[in-house]
Amino acid sequence: MRRPVVVGNWKMHGSRAENARLIDALTGQYPAKAAADCVVCPPYVYIQEVGRLLRDSPIGLGAQDVCAENNGAFTGEVSVAMLRDVGCEYVIVGHSERRLLYRETDQVVARKFAAAYHSKSLTPILCVGEQLADRDSGRTHEVVARQLDAVLELCGAESLERGLVAYEPVWAIGTGRNATPEQAQDVHAFIRERIAARDGRIAAATRILYGGSVKAGNAAELFAMPDVDGGLIGGASLKADEFLAIAAAARP
Ligand code: PEP
Repeated sequence: MRRPVVVGNWKMHGSRAENARLIDALTGQYPAKAAADCVVCPPYVYIQEVGRLLRDSPIGLGAQDVCAENNGAFTGEVSVAMLRDVGCEYVIVGHSERRLLYRETDQVVARKFAAAYHSKSLTPILCVGEQLADRDSGRTHEVVARQLDAVLELCGAESLERGLVAYEPVWAIGTGRNATPEQAQDVHAFIRERIAARDGRIAAATRILYGGSVKAGNAAELFAMPDVDGGLIGGASLKADEFLAIAAAARP
């Protein structure tokens, strides 16, 4: 049985005051014995303070990105060790905004995943997903396979024993247009089969999240799909009631 996970990606939103209000509402209402793991990923500058606000709550703490290097002359970058030092447990790698706006290649993303995985202390969340033109030209599986394979080749299928995968069709992110449950299930099953081709036991245990315009109103039907193990939530994770309703919809 895979325990579902719901991850909030705050992107570049928030302020100290807004974060405090949001975390107060989440920690006040998120059940200690919830059926799903719940994680929030604030911008770097707020991670430590949000971690302090989350203390003693069942909600986990993550970052939105990480550098593949350990330390050194990499101005503006943040390492795995630094994230651990401020209490992070998870890190998103390869979000489509990083791939598209900051030109991160599959190889760069795989190296970031590897840095988190090899640290043995940070759970990487690998984002994969096709653009609209890829879907329209029937290349969805090909694109997702290429992005996934970069990690499987560098780190092996065993890296997904601790890591998570998030399928996020780019055309559904922040657009209000989510994939249908059937479209999500098709790609999730494809991802699981691709991992199974290397290791069936690990494929069966890998948690694969769906991301792209998940809201309280569509979460239950998406999460009901057999290979959808929760969600990576952008906009709706900034509203406590929405995010809590989405998390409540995630059940094994
Ligand atoms: C995301 O940022 O990963 C995302 C899925 O955003 P949204 O939920 O706003 O579409």
